[in-house]
Amino acid sequence: MGNPNDNSTEPNSGDAAPESLDFIREIIANDLSSGKHASTVTRFPPEPNGYIHIGHAKSICLNFGVAQESDASVCHLRFDDTNPVKEDVKYVDSIKKDVAWLGFDWGKNLYFASDYFEKLYDFAVELIENGKAFVCDLTLDEIAEHRGTPTRPGKNSPYRDRSPEENLELFERMRDGEFDDGTRVLRAKIDMASPNLHMRDPVLYRIRKTQHHRTGDKWCIYPMYDFTHCLSDSIEGITHSLCTLEFEVHRPLYDWVLDNVKVDCHPCQIEFARLNLTYSVLSKRKLLSLVEEGHVDGWDDPRMPTVSGLRRRGYTPASIRSFCKTIGLTKFNSLTDVALLEHSIRQDLNETAERRLAVLRPLKVVITNFEEGKVEELEAVNNPKNPEVGTRTIPFTREIYVERDDFMEDPPKKYFRLGPGREVRLRFAFFITCQEVIKNAAGEVVELHCTYDPETKGGNAPDGRKVKGTIHWVSASKAFETEVRLYDRLFTAEDPNKEEDGKTFIDYLNPDSLEEISEAKLEPGLEDTEPGALYQFERLGYFCADAKDSQPGKPVFNRTVTLRDAWAKQQAKG
Ligand code: ATP
Ligand code: MG
Repeated sequence: MGNPNDNSTEPNSGDAAPESLDFIREIIANDLSSGKHASTVTRFPPEPNGYIHIGHAKSICLNFGVAQESDASVCHLRFDDTNPVKEDVKYVDSIKKDVAWLGFDWGKNLYFASDYFEKLYDFAVELIENGKAFVCDLTLDEIAEHRGTPTRPGKNSPYRDRSPEENLELFERMRDGEFDDGTRVLRAKIDMASPNLHMRDPVLYRIRKTQHHRTGDKWCIYPMYDFTHCLSDSIEGITHSLCTLEFEVHRPLYDWVLDNVKVDCHPCQIEFARLNLTYSVLSKRKLLSLVEEGHVDGWDDPRMPTVSGLRRRGYTPASIRSFCKTIGLTKFNSLTDVALLEHSIRQDLNETAERRLAVLRPLKVVITNFEEGKVEELEAVNNPKNPEVGTRTIPFTREIYVERDDFMEDPPKKYFRLGPGREVRLRFAFFITCQEVIKNAAGEVVELHCTYDPETKGGNAPDGRKVKGTIHWVSASKAFETEVRLYDRLFTAEDPNKEEDGKTFIDYLNPDSLEEISEAKLEPGLEDTEPGALYQFERLGYFCADAKDSQPGKPVFNRTVTLRDAWAKQQAKG
C-alpha cells in the first residue's frame, strides 16, 4: 500500500453544530463510504510509565468511541513498552483498570509493543540490508552535536558509510550484549540536511542493559518510539493512527519507516490537539514529580487530574465521557477551562445523586420548646430531580447542629440566615427563631437557644408568614461524626506550565488545596455508605465516600465539587 496520508481536511471550527462530525470522524466516514476501509481499527497506545490522566481520557474516548460507531470496528489497547528504565507492570495494571472503568472494552485486543521485539529486529535487519540503516559509534552527545539546528544542516556521522555486512555484524553483536550502554546505536540513513530534524538519521535502537518488565533480560537493545510505533500500528492492521499534534513533525519518519520495509499495511496518522486544562498539569513527568516529592498523596490523590484521582474524587465515567465529547477535537492547541470539567460532573450528579444533610462546622442549637428525649421523624425528599427515588425520614430532636456560617451575630441586610431574633426555615423541618446567643469566656458563640413553631412542620406556616432563609441541620444525638475533605485547585496559576521568572509548576502549588474537617456531623444512615458512593450534601456540594480511607461504619467523604457552577455562570454572562 502506498502512503494514504491526506490530512488536508479542515479542522472542525468551534461553532459547528453539535451533531456535526469532528474532522477525524469526517475523514473516517469518507474512508468507510468510499470503500477504502470496510471497518476501522484504532488503538490507544499508552506508555506504561505513569497513571493515565484526563488528557489520555480524551484520546481513549476518541479511539474507542470511533470503534463503537461503526460495525465490525475495533480499538486495540497497546502498551508502548519500549523503555524498560521508566516502565513498570504496576502502570500496566492501573491503565487497564482505568480504561475499563471509563467504560471501554478492548476485548481480545490487548497488545504490547514488546511482543513485537523479534519482528522489529527483523525490520531493522531489513533496513540494514538495504543500506537504509547503520550502526553508529558516536556517543549520544556527539550525535546531538552532529544534528545541527533547524537553520543549520547536520553533519554526516563518520560511521554512515559502513557496509551492510559490517552493520549486520555489529547490530547482532549489540543484541548479543557485547557493547556497553551508550557506546553504539542503530540509526536510519535518511538525510542530515533535512529541514525536519527528526529525519536527520534518527536513532532506531539503543543499548539498555536493563530488565524489562515483560521480556526480562532477553533483550539489551531496545527500539525507539518512532521506529516501534509505526511498525506496531502496521503489524496490528491499524487503519487510523490518531495521535496528538506534537507527533505531526514525526509523521514523515512514520511514513519513511513504513515505506522502506515490506509491510502490508500503512496506517494513516492523523493528529489532533492534546487537552490542556487550566489550573492543572497534564504531563506524566510533572505528575510523577508531584507524587515523588510528596506534594500529593499518590497518583490517586483526589486533587490529581489522573483518572484514578478523579475516580477517588467522585467523578463518574459518564461525566468524563461527556466532558470529552463537549471539548471536541481540533487541530490547534488551546487551554480548556477546568470549570467545564466540574460542570460535567455537576450535570451528572444533579440528576443521579441522592440528597442528604450534613453539617461541616457544627454550631449547637437547643430548641428550648421541644421536649427532651423526643424524636420526631420528618419526611425528606431524596432527589427532587428524580421523584422515583422517593423519600426518607430524618430525626428531629431538641438539640441539633447547624452550620457555623449560617449564624451571624450582627448580620448585614441581605443575610437571610440565623441572627439574634431572626426566624429561618430548617430544611424539611420547622421554622425556628433565635432567642438567645450563648458565649464562652473568650466571647465566642458556642450555642444558640431557639424556639420552634410546631405549626410549620414541613416548611410552611399556616398563617402564611414567610422566611427568606432555609438552612440545613442534623440532630445532635442522632448524627454521627466523621472526616470530610474539601478540595480546591492544586495550582493557583491558570497555567502552571508557564515557566516565567525562573518559576516552575511547583512554585504555583496552592497551599490551601486540601482542607480536612475532622468533626463533621452527618445525617444518620450515612454511616453505612459504601466506598465510592456519591451524595449531594444539601447546600454544600457533591461528596464521595473515599475508597481508601473509609472504614466500615465510618465513611470518610471527599468533596467532589461545590454546587456553584462557574461554567454555567460564565456561559450565562455570554
Ligand atoms: P507525557 O505526559 O510524558 O507527554 P504522553 O502523554 O505522551 O506522556 P503516552 O502514554 O505516550 O503519554 O500517551 C498515550 C496516548 O495518549 C498518546 O497517543 C497521546 O497522544 C495521548 N495523550 C497524552 N496526553 C494527552 C492529552 N493531554 N490530550 C490528548 N491526548 C493525550
Ligand atoms: Mg508519549
